[in-house]
Amino acid sequence: MHSPMFSLEVFPPKRDAPIGTIYDALDGLEGLKPDFISVTYGHGTHADRTATARIANTIRKDYQIPTVAHLTALYSDKSRIDEALDLFEDAKVGGVLALRGDHLDGCEPVGVFNHANDLIAYIHERRPDLKIFAACYPEGHIESDSLDDDIAHLKLKVDAGASHLISQLFYDNADFYRFLDKAHAAGIDVPIEAGIMPVTSAKSVYSMAAKNRTRIPKAVAAMLDKWGDDLPSLRAAGINFAAQQITNLVANDVDGIHLYTMNRAATARRIWHNVEPLFAR
Ligand code: FAD
Repeated sequence: MHSPMFSLEVFPPKRDAPIGTIYDALDGLEGLKPDFISVTYGHGTHADRTATARIANTIRKDYQIPTVAHLTALYSDKSRIDEALDLFEDAKVGGVLALRGDHLDGCEPVGVFNHANDLIAYIHERRPDLKIFAACYPEGHIESDSLDDDIAHLKLKVDAGASHLISQLFYDNADFYRFLDKAHAAGIDVPIEAGIMPVTSAKSVYSMAAKNRTRIPKAVAAMLDKWGDDLPSLRAAGINFAAQQITNLVANDVDGIHLYTMNRAATARRIWHNVEPLFAR
């Protein structure tokens, strides 16, 4: 029987966060049996660019879970990418999620890697053995003119060497299925994991939706209307909604589920316990 992949995403703690926070998150995620945990990469002016490799190393060594390190391109030259790849090699990561990254206000991009496919081609040439992941957008990336244009650009990433895709969050599975049909028709035949972000607060749903042009379907709008000011109820409804989304995706034979944990281990655990029997482990 086809069993989908299951992966988790965490972010490194902020520079001034107490040292224990990431361990609390990772301890809380123990027992979820993910195929891998991916660790995000910050490219803001205050970001600690070594944190991704450090956290990935901890996850592999202390929790024996394979890792994927995210890496962004816009504000890096080749030597900075080489440094990151060396750190990832030391941390024995299982792959790199190669991204362009967002434009930062008031910061001029370096101009070497203008799109993710440039970074993917570079990594593929430098480290042919390294598995390369890339991002995809079921509703189209916010800067793209159309979903078809965005999928044409996605194909460039796969042709440059990306062999595994992870999607942006979405709340309506119909959008994901439409995207899959178009991606397959465009000749994209690598595994595509569906990115699921649990609803935990109205503020975060609205800000993510505005940032990413994510559609808020009626079912989510109703949850926010009813429990937007009642965090415990909204969290319970959000866990239920994410579990239902995952159940429907697995029933439709998706390649995998990537859960954006936002380092909220208890929420991730409750979702997992709702869907665990659907994943052969
Ligand atoms: P690209 O693939 O370069 O696409 C960006 C835009 O340019 C799209 O509109 C696309 O259609 C267009 N485009 C692509 N290639 C070309 C081309 N060759 N010519 C012309 N147009 C082109 N951000 C972080 O800072 N750190 C993270 O750790 C991080 N992790 C993420 C994980 C996932 C799973 C996802 C979905 C996103 C993540 N992001 C992260 C956010 C990401 O950096 C932003 O969405 C960013 O705006 C786009 O990155 P990309 O790699 O998809 O860019």
